Amino acid sequence: MILGILKEKSPELRVALLPETVSALIKLKVTVILEQGAGISAFAADSAYEEVGASMVSRQVVLHTADLVVGIHAPDEADLADMKVGQSLLCALNPYFNASLVQNLAKAKITAFSMDVIPRTSRAQAMDILSSMATVAGYKAVLTAANTLPKFFPMFMTAAGTITPAKVLILGAGVAGLQAVATSRKLGAVVEVFDVRAAVKEEVMGLGAKFVDVEGAADDKSAGGYAVEQDEAFKQRQAQAIHDHAVKSDVVICTAQIPGKTAPLLLRTATVETMKAGSVIIDLAASTGGNCELSKDGKTVVSVNGVKVIGNSALATEMPTDASRMFGKNIFNFTKLIVDEHGKLVLNWSDDIVKGTAVTHQGEIVHERVKAALNL
Ligand code: NAD
Repeated sequence: MILGILKEKSPELRVALLPETVSALIKLKVTVILEQGAGISAFAADSAYEEVGASMVSRQVVLHTADLVVGIHAPDEADLADMKVGQSLLCALNPYFNASLVQNLAKAKITAFSMDVIPRTSRAQAMDILSSMATVAGYKAVLTAANTLPKFFPMFMTAAGTITPAKVLILGAGVAGLQAVATSRKLGAVVEVFDVRAAVKEEVMGLGAKFVDVEGAADDKSAGGYAVEQDEAFKQRQAQAIHDHAVKSDVVICTAQIPGKTAPLLLRTATVETMKAGSVIIDLAASTGGNCELSKDGKTVVSVNGVKVIGNSALATEMPTDASRMFGKNIFNFTKLIVDEHGKLVLNWSDDIVKGTAVTHQGEIVHERVKAALNL
């Protein structure tokens, strides 16, 4: 099989596979080609890929020749014209929000695997890009907040007086939220957490943070460990509780998401406008609407009372080396499922991970949840 790596477009800095992972793929008898300069913004030179046995080619050659085209994001719709019927694609399609791309991939008869819909089973954990990238984003969110806040995170007792620790409020304790808790605690902040899944309470407390209970959250066992939408009465109780804690916080990190839906709105403008001047809100859910009413993805908004609201759902790209390392390891583990001992591409449709990650195949949209979400 020929595996082809695409160079991502600006402002993306990550690359789907670093030379160290390409080397491991070549040991599986896979031929690797990549678009010139693909790794440069993640500090991996073309020569480093060549040293492990990969060949540099143009974007068109990757798109036209590779049996499996690999990227972080989906190729542009214009790139599809350079692809061939029956080729496979492996990247994050964000399919719930990209109806036209999904339809065009089906029309082009590409077998598209979307790493962001991989089943969240124990066997798939080593391939789970959502978890890896959420780990990077949760960490980076705290560093960004600490860097922006006009105060210290840790407590200091100095000759110039005692500095009290920063108060950090974290909304959503999934992978990103728990990483944000751990990083905030390591920096010495006092941390409080909201989540609708009671299952995370112990983990939060184990990391040294306080879990704020709001009575009556709906928790659906059939949602596979994910949160579900809440009723109006709960939303109002939760909004009041979040307001009461947010106004005493220096930093709010927003990570709450519901898969395939717009993010829950948890932090109203009225709350932000009652927070202390100089406080910082980082909203990782900004690309799906945001947890904060003032968030704009990719932008910093300053509220009338001087609170900075940083909307950024792409924080993983700001740490391109380790983010690419983790993403690449996930891609490698998935690729192992679809190559045989001779390095040939073999798609085993009875494997629940292969089947559950495929979005389009032989001209059809084959992912039931994506089809339902897009009303197709
Ligand atoms: P996510 O990004 O979908 O959501 C982030 C967090 O937001 C979740 O904890 C969710 O409960 C919370 N949230 C949603 N609505 C909320 C609201 N109204 N108020 C407060 N919080 C709200 O989640 P994620 O980080 O991708 O993962 C969630 C869970 O999925 C994990 O904790 C785990 O149980 C499971 N998971 C399983 C695997 C695996 O087995 N391969 C991998 C990763 C995650």
